[in-house]
Amino acid sequence: MPKESKISTPDWIKEGYDSPAEYAKAKGKKVAQKKSIGKTFKVRICPKCKSDKVQVVLNGEEGKGSGEWECKNCKWKGRNTDEKELSEDQFLEYLDKEDEE
Ligand SMILES: [Zn+2]
Repeated sequence: MPKESKISTPDWIKEGYDSPAEYAKAKGKKVAQKKSIGKTFKVRICPKCKSDKVQVVLNGEEGKGSGEWECKNCKWKGRNTDEKELSEDQFLEYLDKEDEE
């Protein structure tokens, strides 16, 4: 017979903590935390004019990897776009805007 056949009391109760979270804190463990409300999304923007009207352009050469980016606003072309962070609301607005075109 195994020694501990009964359901054992969780350590945090045995040691007198109020919650598993407190127990974990006292033990120095990281408690899984909810992600903060400020969820952000990254979108690519043109490094020149900061417009988000950047699109990838394929060079037509197969096997040459990814193409370049082109800004529809100022005609900038290149491989390195900038990024900006949007909040969820801003991101949804951004998607709406994209749909209109
Ligand atoms: Zn641009």
